[in-house]
Order: sequence, then C-alpha cells, then structure tokens
Amino acid sequence: MNVRVGSRIGGKSGRSGELLAQKLQQEGITNPRVLQAIARSPRHIFVPEILAHKAYDNTALPIGQGQTISQPYIVAKMSELLLKDGMPDSILEIGTGSGYQTSILAQLTAKVYSVERIKSLQFQAKRKLQSMDLHNISMKHGDGWKGWQSKAPFQAIIVTAAPSEVPQALLAQLADGGRLVIPVGEDTQILKVITRHGDDFSEQQVEAVRFVPLVPGAVQ
Ligand code: SAH
Repeated sequence: MNVRVGSRIGGKSGRSGELLAQKLQQEGITNPRVLQAIARSPRHIFVPEILAHKAYDNTALPIGQGQTISQPYIVAKMSELLLKDGMPDSILEIGTGSGYQTSILAQLTAKVYSVERIKSLQFQAKRKLQSMDLHNISMKHGDGWKGWQSKAPFQAIIVTAAPSEVPQALLAQLADGGRLVIPVGEDTQILKVITRHGDDFSEQQVEAVRFVPLVPGAVQ
C-alpha cells in the first residue's frame, strides 16, 4: 500500500499509523480511504499518556470513566461498512469517547455529528480533534439513544456502544437508503448493518463484537 503521510494530520506518528494501516489491510480491511485515514491519524493523542506506547497496537485501551477507545480493526471495519454504498455527505456518531473514531470519520465525509453522554470525555475529545485541525465536527453532550433530531435525516449513523436493542429514534433519523452500523446485544453482541428502504429496514449481521453498553441518559 502506498500511503502518503499528511502534513498536519499524522505528524510524527506517520510511520506508526502506516504500520497499523498495513496490519489492518492484512486483516481484511480494503477501503483505501479508510486505510489512508488510519495511516494519517495520531492515535497516541487519544489514549492516556501512560498507554501511549500501545497506541498503535490493534487493541482496545481504557480511556477513563470505565470507557474504552475501540480496537483499530473495529474502527476501520465500521467505517468501511458505513461507506459501502458510496460517500455519505454527513455521518452521525453515537459515543464520541476518545474522539479517535470521530477523527477517522471526519477525514471520510464532509460533516460529522457526534453525541457523547459523559461531558468530561467529550471535552477532552474536542480539544484533541481541534489539535488535528479537524473543523468539520459538531459535538453534542446528550443521550445518544435519542440521536440528534434537529440534524436528521442522516445517510449514515454509527454507534460505538452496544444497546440491548436498536434504538427506535436512530431508525427514525435514518434517511431513505441510509445505513446504520451498530453493535446490538448484552452478553453476546453482534455488529449489524441496518439499511432503510422507505418504511422498511433490512438487516445484515457482520460479526461478533464486544463494546461497552449504550447507557440511557447523559452525565456531567
Ligand atoms: N468510538 C469511541 C468509543 C468509545 S466507548 C472511541 O473509539 O474512543 C463508547 C462511548 O459511548 C463512551 O464514551 C460512552 O460514554 C458513550 N456512550 C454510552 N452510552 C451513551 C449514550 N446513551 N449516548 C451517548 N454516548 C454514550
């Protein structure tokens, strides 16, 4: 793979990001735009400093508040699934967390809307995304079970925490032809892609996954 390391995005992390992208390609990620975004992104700024040496490993890591930064393979896989039918002009993300997935999405689409229930995580993520010079992201502190009604409909919605069942509000906020990529379940979780066809929805089950739960309500 021939990936150019971006000037601002990436910076010193370029080589590590490239190696991570190569690893993900070997694991079956094929979308060149997704791989390029992974190669360019400084994942180390999104993990606690003490874990920075593990930032380019293909593993989930704790980010505080009992939450985790998703495994890079899952970030790439979900991004690829979102883009499968072409390029959505905006994406709704539920569960900003560290902001790493947000940074990847912001390189793949014109506008990202991201909702997080824990205020302190949202605050930290915002600073990091600004330091990457990504300015096409709107963030909201609130309950992602409810989506982001005033910005709907969305051609693409990604949920990075697992509800026990698909939130009705997210189905309602999906544009016709739009896709929702979401892990669903409690002990056993399945990554699903739900596509809207008018008032009907089709569902594809992708693979077993493990996410923190999508918890109702927002906290300060
Ligand atoms: N994509 C993020 C994943 C973070 S973990 C990353 O890679 O860093 C999932 C996140 O979802 C956590 O930050 C958690 O606080 C958030 N979350 C859980 N329930 C939520 C809800 N109802 N609304 C919004 N965010 C929620």
